[in-house]
Amino acid sequence: MRKYVIMGVQGSGKGTQAKMLRGDLDLVHISVGDIFRWHVRQHTKMGAQVKRIMAAGELVSDELVEEVVRRRMGIHDWNYGFIIDGFPRNGRQAEFFMESYDIDAVIHLELPDDEVRRRVLSRRLCPSCGMDYNLIADRPEVEGRCDICGNELITRADDTPEALESRLTDYHEKTRPVLELFRRKEVVHDVDGRPPVEDVQQAIRKTLGLPAYRG
Ligand code: AMP
Repeated sequence: MRKYVIMGVQGSGKGTQAKMLRGDLDLVHISVGDIFRWHVRQHTKMGAQVKRIMAAGELVSDELVEEVVRRRMGIHDWNYGFIIDGFPRNGRQAEFFMESYDIDAVIHLELPDDEVRRRVLSRRLCPSCGMDYNLIADRPEVEGRCDICGNELITRADDTPEALESRLTDYHEKTRPVLELFRRKEVVHDVDGRPPVEDVQQAIRKTLGLPAYRG
């Protein structure tokens, strides 16, 4: 069983890389942000609680995040392991997680803030199938439409300049120290997030000693 955490600033490609990694390794990809976005879309009680916080690019309360993670992990559908993305984001969340699970590796995708701004502000998302696009590097074939399901693409509510600055500040102040905590346990693998998506995936697999990505 493989238990991975993928960390990195917004727009560093965590979700994309996690999805590529889960494929042939049969890992379960757990994205706390995706779970919250699902609740917002489905207008659940939790969705109502987190909608404004997320749109402002702020962090949801630790209690709620821990409840979501506990519930998701409790499904126990991760026979071959998991890759968790967007969590832990601060010291308390890291401690909560480490009390219950040991982690084999933390993949840290590195990306300078300027590149983050460039990527995030040109990001588009399909609200139906979750496919990510980028108007600079990865444009949809038909403008504004998802290549997979044809749905109209949207901008994430938190991909605005104001929300992005708030998320960057939180990342540097609260999430970076978590990385240092994991570093002391010698489980962190730093990977350059700037190269093309497939190259980043190969670098991740190489550092983790996994078979190469074959698409
Ligand atoms: P993400 O897709 O990981 O960027 O998450 C989107 C938003 O969901 C964040 O900006 C937060 O508002 C919320 N969120 C996701 N994961 C966490 C977490 N571990 N702690 C607090 N808030 C979170």
